[in-house]
Amino acid sequence: METHTPDFSLQVQGVKGFCPAGEVYAKQQFENKTIPVLSCEGPCIRGEIARLVANFIAQDVPSLARACHAETFFVPHSSMARWVKDARQSIMIDGCFLKCHGRVLRGLVGEDRMVQIDALPFYKKYTDIFLMDDVPEDERKAVARQVADKIISELKEDRVLMAAAA
Ligand code: SF4
Repeated sequence: METHTPDFSLQVQGVKGFCPAGEVYAKQQFENKTIPVLSCEGPCIRGEIARLVANFIAQDVPSLARACHAETFFVPHSSMARWVKDARQSIMIDGCFLKCHGRVLRGLVGEDRMVQIDALPFYKKYTDIFLMDDVPEDERKAVARQVADKIISELKEDRVLMAAAA
């Protein structure tokens, strides 16, 4: 079995139309110049923790706002994609070292305009569990809250949030 895949591209079917609510939201974020926060997500526990962490970070820091990674990647004519592509910086919370969504975002905006964070080293648990449902909801939230606090603190130390607020 291969343990490595070289860089690759994916053929994606084109699409017409917009998500009306997403358009209103993303246009507002674009005007406000907020910093997009993207994440991977469940059903894997690591993806779910990443998603919760991204939500907490965006809720706590006024200069940040959640972006929809799927609309950003797969609806290129959307305001969501325009907001992320034009942002001075984006924050990607990935669930594990594979950094699936972060690798896509890197190709879209470039390495120097994103902060890519693997959430797992911040809590180091559940490595033998796949499904998020195998960890009680309260526990998932409590772990994500702790990880979010640590990441916010690191972002402040690295002056990412100060730059975002400028
Ligand atoms: S980085 Fe990839 S493999 Fe890891 S949790 Fe996210 S989507 Fe799943």
